[in-house]
Amino acid sequence: MKTATATKTGARTKYAWRELDRVEPPKRPVPDRLSDFHEVSRPYDEATASQQASRCVQCPHPNCVAACPLEIPIPDLLALTADGQFHDAAELLFNTQSLPEFIAHICVEKRMCEAACVLTKASEPVPIGAISRFLLDYGWTHGVKEPPPATATGQRVAVIGSGLCGLMGADALSRQGYAVTIIDSAKAPGGRLVNGLAGFKVDRAVIKRRVQSLRERGVEFRMGVVFGRDVTTGALRRSHDAVLFALGRTEAVPLEIPGAELRGVCQAYPFILHHTSDARFHALPVNVEGRQVVVLGGGDTAMDALRIALRAGAGDALCIYRGDEAAMPADPKEIENAAEEGAQFVFRSQPAAILGNANGEVTGVRCARTQLGAPDAAGRQGVRAQPGTEFDIPAEVVLVAYGFAPPRLPPCDDVAGLAVGQNGCLVVDAAQMTSVPGVFAAGSIARWPVSMIEVMRDARKAAAGIDRYLSALRKV
Ligand SMILES: Cc1cc2nc3c(=O)[nH]c(=O)nc-3n(C[C@H](O)[C@H](O)[C@H](O)COP(=O)(O)OP(=O)(O)OC[C@H]3O[C@@H](n4cnc5c(N)ncnc54)[C@H](O)[C@@H]3O)c2cc1C
Repeated sequence: MKTATATKTGARTKYAWRELDRVEPPKRPVPDRLSDFHEVSRPYDEATASQQASRCVQCPHPNCVAACPLEIPIPDLLALTADGQFHDAAELLFNTQSLPEFIAHICVEKRMCEAACVLTKASEPVPIGAISRFLLDYGWTHGVKEPPPATATGQRVAVIGSGLCGLMGADALSRQGYAVTIIDSAKAPGGRLVNGLAGFKVDRAVIKRRVQSLRERGVEFRMGVVFGRDVTTGALRRSHDAVLFALGRTEAVPLEIPGAELRGVCQAYPFILHHTSDARFHALPVNVEGRQVVVLGGGDTAMDALRIALRAGAGDALCIYRGDEAAMPADPKEIENAAEEGAQFVFRSQPAAILGNANGEVTGVRCARTQLGAPDAAGRQGVRAQPGTEFDIPAEVVLVAYGFAPPRLPPCDDVAGLAVGQNGCLVVDAAQMTSVPGVFAAGSIARWPVSMIEVMRDARKAAAGIDRYLSALRKV
């Protein structure tokens, strides 16, 4: 067993990884976690961050950077952290990235930079995600400043949607000197970050702090304004030099098997919202207390539904997924967290029917074993139900987490001119510009399925595209 030496900073040698095991950030005990919606892991202390960073071998052609959608200068951050230069490392992170706090909280690093780390073969990867989380906290608590915005260009950009995509676009554009107005139908900015994501993933305080810093930089938030009803693209194009669509999607894919109409079968997203959003609801939340809850699907919504059901007192929370664990689209660390908190999993199975009693209440799920096939265009594993393999799982509540349908664009003037692809997403070019010049789109309205880190990458591309488009107009 290798041990971490107790020096303040990690001794940076090419072979430090031979002397130091990977250390995971400490997690709160499961009973504590189940009693609230706070984050699960605690950040590293300085010594551990430095030691863990010293495990990086500083590859000349770093795979981690190539695998990162945001091309974060990971080896430089790790070198500074290993040397104990935390301020400089945090400054580098804050200077090269928009919304670094979200990167640190929501990145699926186990599928990206850490999966590509050269140490994966010989040992375990450098814990890049946990180190960036440490740097982020260090930066905010030690007053590391973000770069000041560029000189005002005098040009205006409207961003429709204040979710991750809209905030990311607004941040990048306001840093470049554009006057940005965010328009959103919701009362509070943040989109899914505040209306959907549980506090155990991203602390609300982190989102509020970012919204406040955008306001201080001059970004205007027009909340409670419905695009398509209160404002149209035509009107926005007349008052702004460019428009960025960041509308997201909220309409859940329905369950279409016999018994789907039984009482106790519900969409997972509204169930999650009842427990995570400050919004007011007309209907009462589904009561899961002491009940057997079955969640259908293997994505992030499914993992959140399982973990929220357990926090809401479910007797059991069991996930049915058609593929095997490695093929689940959910973040591996969230699958692990769910399992630690008591969620159970049935893999390679898919529901054929929902079973009910004479009162129309759900009593179980009839499943069939699946055979795995080749992945589809989106990389999702193809599956086929195997005849004669049916079995029943008891259930009192069934939560459906099969993803979201493309948004219906509001009927208003030149929105009709926006080209829509077969997958229901807006068609965009390499700069994220739609078929209408000056109108850009990013996030889940322009790509599906999409992880938050891809939303951030596309929003950054859109901001760069808008900058190029508007710079060219300035020269005319
Ligand atoms: C429960 C749940 C858990 C998830 N967990 C993860 C995870 O762990 N990791 C991960 O990578 N991804 C996760 N996701 C997916 C992730 O949340 C989305 O990919 C991402 O938030 C999409 O961001 P967005 O900005 O495109 O859309 P949104 O965050 O949905 O923002 C869109 C905004 O547009 C506004 N809007 C919509 N229509 C109008 C209109 N007509 N007028 C004005 N405003 C409008 C909405 O009010 C909203 O604020 C999860 C999703 C859900 C539902």
